[in-house]
Amino acid sequence: MAENCSHDCSSCGADCASRGKQNLKKPLHELSDVKKVIAVVSGKGGVGKSMTCALLAAAAQNKGKVTAVMDADITGPSIPRMFGLTEHAKGGENGILPVLTDGGIQVISMNVLLENEAEPVVWRGSLISGTVLQFWTDVIWTGVDIMFIDMPPGTGDVPLTVFQSIPLDGIVIVTSPQDLVGMIVQKAVNMAQMMNVPILGIVENMSYIKCPDCGRKLSVFGESGVDALALEYGIPNVAKLPIDSELTKAADSGNIENLGNNYLSDFFDKILKKLK
Ligand code: ADP
Repeated sequence: MAENCSHDCSSCGADCASRGKQNLKKPLHELSDVKKVIAVVSGKGGVGKSMTCALLAAAAQNKGKVTAVMDADITGPSIPRMFGLTEHAKGGENGILPVLTDGGIQVISMNVLLENEAEPVVWRGSLISGTVLQFWTDVIWTGVDIMFIDMPPGTGDVPLTVFQSIPLDGIVIVTSPQDLVGMIVQKAVNMAQMMNVPILGIVENMSYIKCPDCGRKLSVFGESGVDALALEYGIPNVAKLPIDSELTKAADSGNIENLGNNYLSDFFDKILKKLK
């Protein structure tokens, strides 16, 4: 048991005897059906977690999976912009309905609930965690094969609550080459291991830039360390995402679903195999 135990496991990560007796997982809405849930996590913000989440969702939808995205990054939601969503979510008698992208991906995000998307969410952690859990319990997710959760960055209060309360089938870790020699990633790996959630793969974003003249891969942020890291933790599925202005353009114009080249398509196939 943790020192100074408050007997409230929802705000504690210690793996002790009292936790074993509690099931902190929250039920889905009675009209919802979600088969697999993957959380996309990063040790810190700005590394391309939402980009990875959006590309994975687009890859899944493209392969005929009924796909959903839960944007749990409450204070920095970017999923609606990447999919060009301008509509608001509608509430019915039975619950909240997600907004649909052009390709049919079901999305819920703070930005499709706010009147004005520029409004800042200045909330305490407990309120933010409560909202994320409501995205799970109060939204009607219809016949979803695979849901991706765009997690808030870091290993703080909100990610911890999501890990404890939503039955995750696995996580994908997003990192960048300059992540302090993997220290920040190690925190995310340790958190997943503490919570007994399988790590399905690591994406190194902004890994390189391709020279438009000679096609050589240039490591602008230094040599990649992700292979060594993946080896150390026994994670065989690694993807390296280049800095590509087509990605920025597609994300900024709401066209992430319509990219000709989805860099994470093969990576997603390997995830699917692991999930079976
Ligand atoms: P995070 O979710 O980790 O905070 P985002 O996915 O929102 O980060 O990415 C931050 C910004 O960088 C966004 O404007 C996004 O479009 C851009 N971006 C992310 N990855 C790439 C990439 N590989 N190439 C070009 N732009 C990228």
